[in-house]
Amino acid sequence: MLLEGKNVLITGASRGIGRATAIECARHGADVALNWFKDREGMEETLAEVARLGRHAVEVEGDVARPESAERFVSAAAAALGGVDVFVSNAGICPFHAFLDTPLEVFERTMAVNLHGAYYMTQAAARQMKQQGTGGALIAISSISALVGGGMQAHYTPTKAGVHSLMQSCAIALGPYGIRCNSVMPGTIATDINREDLADPAKRAYMEKRIPLGRLGEARDVAGCVVFLASDLARYVTGASVLVDGGLFVNLQ
Ligand code: NAP
Repeated sequence: MLLEGKNVLITGASRGIGRATAIECARHGADVALNWFKDREGMEETLAEVARLGRHAVEVEGDVARPESAERFVSAAAAALGGVDVFVSNAGICPFHAFLDTPLEVFERTMAVNLHGAYYMTQAAARQMKQQGTGGALIAISSISALVGGGMQAHYTPTKAGVHSLMQSCAIALGPYGIRCNSVMPGTIATDINREDLADPAKRAYMEKRIPLGRLGEARDVAGCVVFLASDLARYVTGASVLVDGGLFVNLQ
């Protein structure tokens, strides 16, 4: 019960890593406020899972790319739960596309959701934490892609490097308020975001072979790391990043 008594906000919690994080936080005693955008059915499932664990959950629909969604989410969450202790910026998209002919709207939307959205949300959560005066933890779901490239991801990898950088700067800006800021860098985690890409058995087998632990990640593998960073066990950890990739990054050959 690492998060007993804490209120955790998570963006993009209707599926994948966001949902697994909501469930893992609830399992550790947190109440949660969950943002989602299009997948109402998915959000209902996340809410039901949290309720089964006996924790309180509220949901707030909103496109993170819109600045006004951030203020709406954080104020609704604070009102419903009584405050904000942990904020997880997770919502993201990764529409694979070849670099040379990526349409402008694909580039702009990926930036707007993954980077601008993370910025608006993080800032709103930090303002709330400062006002409360009791510190807090901000965690961004970055990616191994913050450190390495992808030929079909030139519009995506800079957003993941960007949110990692955002946490580094926030760690300095918010340290005086007792707010810790860290990023998690997942490797290849089997979720909807890469379902199509990994549907090719040869591609999947190639990826599995490159991972020293011998398997793709599961969403809950990432969630465990988020719980650690959110908890008081990580009370002296700020400005850091943790790879959760089964060893993929260090496997040069
Ligand atoms: P996913 O299963 O596709 O889930 C994405 C989530 O983001 C959904 O809940 C979706 O909500 C939400 N979302 C998308 N656009 C949104 C918007 N404009 N406003 C609010 N919510 C929005 O993907 P995932 O793998 O869990 O990805 C979660 C995060 O992990 C992303 O930031 C991704 O970059 C990062 N990541 C994933 C991997 C991986 O291998 N899976 C690796 C590294 C990093 P709706 O469906 O309700 O719209």
